[in-house]
Amino acid sequence: MEKIRVFDKNFSLFISNEEIEKRIKDMAQKMSLDLQDKNPLFLGILNGSFMFAGELFKSLDIDCGISFLKLASYDGTSSSGKIKRLIGLNEDIKDRTVVILEDIIDTGITIDHIVKQLKGYEPAEIKIATLLIKPEAYNDSYKVDYFCFDIPNDFIVGYGLDYNGFGRNLKHIYKISD
Ligand code: 5GP
Ligand code: MG
Repeated sequence: MEKIRVFDKNFSLFISNEEIEKRIKDMAQKMSLDLQDKNPLFLGILNGSFMFAGELFKSLDIDCGISFLKLASYDGTSSSGKIKRLIGLNEDIKDRTVVILEDIIDTGITIDHIVKQLKGYEPAEIKIATLLIKPEAYNDSYKVDYFCFDIPNDFIVGYGLDYNGFGRNLKHIYKISD
């Protein structure tokens, strides 16, 4: 379906599920080469990354673990600036390679807070992976090691990303059209 309505806004098809999963498999292949023998711990940032993290994780063919963290920062269609604390880290990550899995990097405020808080636990290294990045908005404070798509500065929904709590279940990614 090309055009859809989510809550009170119209969206149009932007990236198909087929294309998303192909890029995620490519990313998993690259990570499997880069991170073999490191036993990395993947840290999915909830809620938005759950679908990306699940798809990526099943295509990794190295020893690795996964855990999910929570940090909310977004209301409606613009960054609210309010950052909450990172919660849910139960593993010992001291001297371990960790890979942050984000749904989307917009301004970079969220990833800044996550990296700063994770550094306190003294991991061996922190890699950043995201399904989507908006390069025009990103403050470039940390190198993004892996991304599937760089996209323009438009609001998107689907494949785990929501608009006002709706649309996370959409299998394709849609772009706002009004
Ligand atoms: P940042 O802190 O980098 O500005 O924003 C990161 C967070 O804002 C993402 O993890 C995501 O939750 C939310 N976000 C940024 N852009 C979009 C977007 O286009 N659509 C949706 N649904 N969420 C977004
Ligand atoms: Mg997020």
